[in-house]
Amino acid sequence: LTALFRIFEGYDFLIYLDNAATSGKKPESVIKAVNYALNNFSANAGRGGYKLAVDASNAIYRVREKVSSFFGASSPLKVAFCPNCTHAINYVIKGVMSNGGHIAVSDLEHNAVMRPVYKTNCDYTVVETSFTDDKITTQNFENAIREDTRLVICTAVSNVTGKIMPIREIGEVCKRKGVLFLVDGAQGGGVVPINVGKYNIDFLCIASHKGLLSPMGTGILIAESDIPDTVIEGGNGINSLELKQDSEMPEGFESGTLCLPNIMGIGAGIDFISKIGIEEIYEKEMNITSFFYENLAELKDVILYTPYPEKLSFAPVLSFNIKEKHSEEIAEYLDKNGIAVRGGFHCSYSAHNKLNTTDVGTVRISPSFLNSMNEAKYTVNVVKKYNLFLKS
Ligand code: PLP
Repeated sequence: LTALFRIFEGYDFLIYLDNAATSGKKPESVIKAVNYALNNFSANAGRGGYKLAVDASNAIYRVREKVSSFFGASSPLKVAFCPNCTHAINYVIKGVMSNGGHIAVSDLEHNAVMRPVYKTNCDYTVVETSFTDDKITTQNFENAIREDTRLVICTAVSNVTGKIMPIREIGEVCKRKGVLFLVDGAQGGGVVPINVGKYNIDFLCIASHKGLLSPMGTGILIAESDIPDTVIEGGNGINSLELKQDSEMPEGFESGTLCLPNIMGIGAGIDFISKIGIEEIYEKEMNITSFFYENLAELKDVILYTPYPEKLSFAPVLSFNIKEKHSEEIAEYLDKNGIAVRGGFHCSYSAHNKLNTTDVGTVRISPSFLNSMNEAKYTVNVVKKYNLFLKS
């Protein structure tokens, strides 16, 4: 498999363990698809009636079909391509909350959720989640829903702790209570199964450059319910003589020229994952994550922030610290030893507030299925060495 991936040029040695930030290795097939689009589809989709522009639009439609079937959407026309997952989340929160109301949101959200929530000026409740009991999490969401609640928001997977959230169960509560449900699938998409139809998800936002192994600079919005207002207006090839932009999917949320090469990359990323199987990828990633957990847990001065990452309860994201050290110092030491991990706050005030780590942040390890056990062993040894060095 590794033969299908390029190594990082210019690096003699690099263990990349920051796949929660972006997938460090893109499959050759993704790179080929992007190149193919640059060479053959440089016409503006939806902006012309000539054959090349129509071919470009058709190529995009085929990727809408792939995304729609991968995430269980009701139609390819429920799929919009956005500049990134953050834009997709903003479109939903600001569009849905434009007439006010209350929001219930988990205590593990990324700032891509919390900042737009804050900006709406709407009343919101931060719902306490549990690492060990999904029933408690689901019940807490149910308790937080009020008469005026319009939107419930939960991440599929926490980008700091790796906790997989019970989105299927929360989706059932939302359906029963008649409130809209937004899932931030930035960390979950392509990593754990998510099915919009089966899980009663109204809006799913995806960072395709992470789990879908495609290029940075494009994200996905799947909207099964109406978003009453647009957030970014402009040319979209539809009703060009009218000044008011319609908020119908997908074009209502695709103002401006789409990044067609990246979209082709998303299609190839989905094909790649589907061929290997999401379960197989997850299994391998979790074996490496468990190895990290078990070995780091043996070190006296290491702090781990979650219980053991049981399969199906956690995704391949692990946070740790070494007592009395700032996480960024630890990450810097690992970097000097050829290991790329992310220290700091991971753009999540909420998660670090929950973990009581707003002073030092955490070191986050996020392996991919392309990492080997040898790389994991080497990394653990470097942490051990650092730990000993601190004591000497
Ligand atoms: N939500 C979560 C949980 C994330 O981890 C991220 C990115 O790290 C985002 C949203 C935002 O994704 P993007 O930066 O691709 O817009």
